[in-house]
Amino acid sequence: MKLLVTGGAGYVGSVCAARLVETGHEVVVVDDLSTGHADAVPDGATFVEADIAEAAADLLTGGFDGVLHFAAKSLVGESMVDPSKYWAGNVLTSLRLLDAMRDNGVARLVFSSTAATYGEPEQVPILETAPTRPTNTYGATKLAIDHAITSYAKAHGLAAVSLRYFNVAGAYGAFGERHTTETHLIPIVLQVALGTRPAISIYGDDYPTADGTCVRDYIHVLDLAEAHLLALANTRAGEHQIYNLGTGTGFSNREVVQTCRDVTGHPIPAEFAPRRPGDPAVLVASATAAAEHLGWKPERPDLHTIITDAWNFTQARA
Ligand code: UDP
Repeated sequence: MKLLVTGGAGYVGSVCAARLVETGHEVVVVDDLSTGHADAVPDGATFVEADIAEAAADLLTGGFDGVLHFAAKSLVGESMVDPSKYWAGNVLTSLRLLDAMRDNGVARLVFSSTAATYGEPEQVPILETAPTRPTNTYGATKLAIDHAITSYAKAHGLAAVSLRYFNVAGAYGAFGERHTTETHLIPIVLQVALGTRPAISIYGDDYPTADGTCVRDYIHVLDLAEAHLLALANTRAGEHQIYNLGTGTGFSNREVVQTCRDVTGHPIPAEFAPRRPGDPAVLVASATAAAEHLGWKPERPDLHTIITDAWNFTQARA
């Protein structure tokens, strides 16, 4: 298929773009490089450096079969202090993209949604039918886009799949996580192991969890990419399917730090800091719907493997 990949110079987008190229698709990456890196665009993909909201209408005149929409502002903490950046950057941009898809008859969409759409869950693991009450602006903007996609599917026959990522980690060879301002737990802990940070601050030790720290469901970025290939192949006209992507197993922040110590052999000093606003205590996916309807199964669910791949990437870039 001929595919437009928005945000294909970013972490998840670049891994997915690489797998799309490897599986024989024609890939055009559009990215404004606000957080992505031009050298993360895989060989074999065409790269257009542009603002997606401005470029979508022109770009999509080129006979595309589908769009994979990764481009987004995605920092929970930042979204709480600068909501405008998130409502404009995520929601308005996505609406421009949806309009351009409608106007050009682009039939398929795979959208990067998030576990943050659910907020503090009533039940764990989280099913797709769980109430959506985001506790942070980031999740609220992604949920708004999900609602918009449902409307466009109903009104215009769009064939859409939203994938609600839990905590993505790991790397795929030369493609990995490298944000200028890093806020995610595993890359920050690995920076401590590398010696570029003195210690990891663990946000909150008084959550209602077994060890008092937040629990998250970590999914290997390559498993995530495979889910996108399956989603693309399973879109249905006029339907908006929504699937959680996680392994169904949660690890506490303390456990993540300890596994990083085991993988790197570094003592990784840790200290406790106040809770980070907007953080739910536990986010663990039920991934049974993705298994049933997409035939997806995470092949690398082991946290040790995920962190080892991230560590190899971190060391290679250092
Ligand atoms: N976290 C932490 N210290 C850090 C960064 C993150 O304790 O320096 C915690 C964060 O509060 C959350 C978990 O690690 O409980 C995962 O956060 P991350 O930002 O990696 O992903 P999120 O769950 O927000 O998508």
